[in-house]
Parts: sequence; C-alpha cells; structure tokens
Amino acid sequence: MACRPGKHLVIRKSMNILKNCRRRHVQAIAGVAGRQASLAGSVRSSKLAGVAGMCTGVVDVLHEVGFMRKLELPSVGQCRCGDVQIRITAQPILTMACHCKGCQRMSASAFSLSAAIPTNGFEVTRGAPVLGGLRNPDLRHFFCPLCMSWMFTRFLPEFVNVRPTMLENVSAFEPFIETWTRAKLPWATTPARHRYPEFPPMEDYAKLTAEFSQTMS
Ligand SMILES: [Zn+2]
Ligand SMILES: [Zn+2]
Repeated sequence: MACRPGKHLVIRKSMNILKNCRRRHVQAIAGVAGRQASLAGSVRSSKLAGVAGMCTGVVDVLHEVGFMRKLELPSVGQCRCGDVQIRITAQPILTMACHCKGCQRMSASAFSLSAAIPTNGFEVTRGAPVLGGLRNPDLRHFFCPLCMSWMFTRFLPEFVNVRPTMLENVSAFEPFIETWTRAKLPWATTPARHRYPEFPPMEDYAKLTAEFSQTMS
C-alpha cells in the first residue's frame, strides 16, 4: 500500500493508544509493530492493522484513514424465530469456518461460521439468549431460548464470536481461515485462505488478523 501523507501521524496516534492499553500482550505487540513501521520507513499497514484488531480504539482510527475496508454498520441479525435480536457496530477482526465435530453437531451442518467482533461492538438488542452446547464456563455458547438457534460464543473478554448466518449481510463474512480440517467432511470446502488441522497456534493470530485486514482494504 502506498504511503500517504498523514498516515505517519495516524501510526503514531495508534501506537500511543496501543501502548497505553492496560493489557500487557497488546503493549508488547505494539512495541514490535512500532519497530516494523519505523524500519520500513513507511506504513506497514497490514501488520499495524492486524495489531490494531486487538484494540478497538485503534481500529476506529485506522478506519478513519481508510486502512481497512468498512462493512456497512450497524449490522443487525436475529435467530430463526426472531425472539433474540443482535446488532454489530464494529468491524470484524477475523472470520472463520470451523470443521470440528462439536461445530458440526451444534450447527447441524458441515461446519460453523464465526466472525470475531470486538466486545464493545456487539449487543443483544432483544430477548435473553441462554447457554447451550457443553456449558463450559470458559467457552460459553449462546442460543435463542425458543428456537434454539446457536447465535454467538464468548470465551475471551476482547471479542465475541458471532455466527454470521444470523446477520442480514451474511455474504460479507466470507471465512478467511478454516480450522479443524482434520475433522472436515471430504466434500465440504470453503474459500478460506488459511487452513489449520486444529486451531491456529496463538502466535499466528496477530499475523492472521493483519492479513485479514489487508484483504479488506
Ligand atoms: Zn429464536
Ligand atoms: Zn469448531
């Protein structure tokens, strides 16, 4: 991506937001990304945008200058019966398809779809979703209490994994990575650019979110 006047300023502003973030892992990544940006002598937009995916304040800054393609927001959705309604007001940081057995069973399909949405950009606007799946307190799957649609999953405080099939603009959430391909049905294919036999190692996520945001610019 060509460097445009004004982007350096934005980078500096973004880095300050990241460095002031209370979460230590974000601060560490900000340091690495800062070095990369200055080494390159210009904006390493993909890496920065990926890092920024971890801090929604920075994502907003980057959107302002066009680093990342914007999905039309808010994006609204509902379960099968409409008792539970949701709204998304932040851009996804990664989109995924998961072929694991659990997802096959819970989705009643070949794989599940997820869009990782920053937590403060997701809200339930109607109804009261209930826990389902294995009811693991560390991996909470939420369902409509009436029609039992599997709507979203919470497991880290930073983001919510929303099932984009609940959203009206589902076609905008093409999966960027696919996981658990070792359990994949032989005929089930997706356009995902990266495949993992299980889940990606933690250290891959910064790279993946960076590349994802680049494809959206
Ligand atoms: Zn419902
Ligand atoms: Zn899965």
